Amino acid sequence: SNDYRVVVFGAGGVGKSSMILRFVKGTFREAYIPTIEDTYTQVISCDNNVCTLQVTDTAGSHQFPAMQRLSISRGHAFILIYSICSHSSLAELVPIYQSIREIKGAEAMPSVPIMVVGNKCDDAHREVTTELGKKTATSWGCGFIETSAKTSHNITELFQQLLQMEKKRKMSL
Ligand code: GDP
Ligand code: MG
Repeated sequence: SNDYRVVVFGAGGVGKSSMILRFVKGTFREAYIPTIEDTYTQVISCDNNVCTLQVTDTAGSHQFPAMQRLSISRGHAFILIYSICSHSSLAELVPIYQSIREIKGAEAMPSVPIMVVGNKCDDAHREVTTELGKKTATSWGCGFIETSAKTSHNITELFQQLLQMEKKRKMSL
């Protein structure tokens, strides 16, 4: 089909909604509004045609398990976000990564685009080093980037890198 579905997972408060709003609307808000599930659509280029990039914002690790399974099985690519200010938010990505691996199948994993993202890199209260984030991503065979939804740092680059990881079609923003 002409849809390319990207699902965003991560602990509550790491900036999933902020990162998506920054990407699709170019805005940022200071308030924390909990999410159940929302999907945003962007038109992108795919094999020299237009197609729709669907970005699904989730409630993260506390999502209803059945909803999480459905999002994973429907998703083509994944963004796993933690906050560089929270060690536990990186730890919360482990079971999410394992669920993706279990649902997609270990053999399929090398062809599933996944970016591990350290958000809030503008914040001085860092708990997770860039090296640890990178090491975690590499051990999972995923890409890695640090972003700030607040300053907009690396937000476009995140999506560019994710789309470049897709080998079945040639996609770009
Ligand atoms: P979610 O639960 O993962 O969707 O997190 P939100 O997007 O609702 O963000 C949680 C809080 O972190 C909000 O108060 C945001 O303003 C703040 N936040 C999100 N991204 C950033 C960022 O890149 N830098 C800073 N300093 N704060 C951020
Ligand atoms: Mg949210």
